[in-house]
Amino acid sequence: MKEDQFKIYIDRLKEGRKEKIEVEVDPAFLTLADNEVLFNKPVKLTGEAYLAENHLLLNLKIIAEATMPCSICNEPTQVPIAIKDFKQQIDLEEFAKPVYDFADDVRTAILLKIPPFAECGGNCPDRKTVSKFLKQPAKDEGANFPFQSLE
Ligand SMILES: [Zn+2]
Repeated sequence: MKEDQFKIYIDRLKEGRKEKIEVEVDPAFLTLADNEVLFNKPVKLTGEAYLAENHLLLNLKIIAEATMPCSICNEPTQVPIAIKDFKQQIDLEEFAKPVYDFADDVRTAILLKIPPFAECGGNCPDRKTVSKFLKQPAKDEGANFPFQSLE
């Protein structure tokens, strides 16, 4: 992984220069201890970084894709994660280093967007099987009624 894909050299932004960000980064930086959620596709980052008075401003569009088990059939399911308007503001009086690394900011933003449940294709084909199974007890109850009518 190219570590410097996440680095902003603050000196390069002086005199009103903007830095365009347009990269596809290896998803390895998103790796979680939780093996249920995987990131296999490159993460797309587009946006810009610039200085405004004593702040470094970062505006990004983040596109990622998580793979997690479908909550109905347990098959791996792709879950798109899109953050269209990610903004970060860094106070350069507090942050006195020459290089700002935004990997953790992007990581946190993406991890917060992981849904608690996923369903394959938004409508799991196994859902019908599951609901049929759930309705079964009601049908069994109904099967007792003919006996009552014999009384
Ligand atoms: Zn499913």
